[in-house]
Amino acid sequence: METSRYNALSAEERSVIESKGTERPFSGEYDDFYEEGVYICRRCNVELYRSDAKFDAHCGWPAFEQEIPGTVTRLPDPDGVRTEIECANCGGHLGHVFIGERLTAADTRHCVNSISMKFARPTAGGQYYCDKGWEHFNVGQYEKAIGFYSIAIEHTKTGPWEGQCYHRRGWSYAKLKQHQQAIQDYDQAIRLDADNELAYVNRALAYYDLGQHQRAIQDFDQAIRVNPYLSEAYNNRGIAYSDLGQHQRAIQDYDHAIKLNPDYAYAYCNRGMAYMDLRQLERAIQDCDQGIKLRRRPGHRFEIGLCRSLLRGEPSKAQVDQG
Ligand SMILES: [Zn+2]
Repeated sequence: METSRYNALSAEERSVIESKGTERPFSGEYDDFYEEGVYICRRCNVELYRSDAKFDAHCGWPAFEQEIPGTVTRLPDPDGVRTEIECANCGGHLGHVFIGERLTAADTRHCVNSISMKFARPTAGGQYYCDKGWEHFNVGQYEKAIGFYSIAIEHTKTGPWEGQCYHRRGWSYAKLKQHQQAIQDYDQAIRLDADNELAYVNRALAYYDLGQHQRAIQDFDQAIRVNPYLSEAYNNRGIAYSDLGQHQRAIQDYDHAIKLNPDYAYAYCNRGMAYMDLRQLERAIQDCDQGIKLRRRPGHRFEIGLCRSLLRGEPSKAQVDQG
């Protein structure tokens, strides 16, 4: 063995890695540690475990349900009971493996001394974390998504998707109703890419939720400047104008949204309500009728409810709340 090829070890590290000692429970650096990355051998730098395989076994040492294939050797422990594990590359002592505890589906626990390993973030860098963030965003885990986007942003200062990371982190904040944080991130996304139409739309929605309708309208203007075919931007700008009592202006936007997307049920319902506010009841009813006919997704229920009650000539609870 050419020991010079390996990392120099401290006395404490040698006592575990070379003399098969055990660190004190709940004392290791990685016992309560769940960042995304890989764990490499402290002595030879070979990758041993991925963070995906790590779980909290409450035993005081890092626990993994499986190793990276081929990287860990199992051998009988001198105590005659346990199974020792060591790095397949350098023979460094890692800990022990336990089977049949039923802690995870894999039913295997690699109980590893923190001091035998070193944590490393994957070399894939920011893009990797940005993708991880998106995975969590898509299943509604917005706090985790924010964590990954934050690492991604920290990891890149030049990547073309840096703006995308800010945009998506902002969107995650918005989902958690943290609109000020969201706006800060959308600002960054727009600074990095002045043509990010979705960042304008989302920033507009955040301002809208904060009651800053004029500011929202400015952002919808920008989104429409970048992409004049964005029917949602017209529809939403219409809503902001409606809220400001500018119903004629709102109707122009709904007209435009419907021209771009003749199946836009929301836009019909919104236009119908704008006509109602202008006391043009016949047109209001026509639009609401059309909106109800076109409804396709459960998300339309709120507007559809308003339209139904309008057709029946009774104010719905939502209208009362709004009024
Ligand atoms: Zn090793």
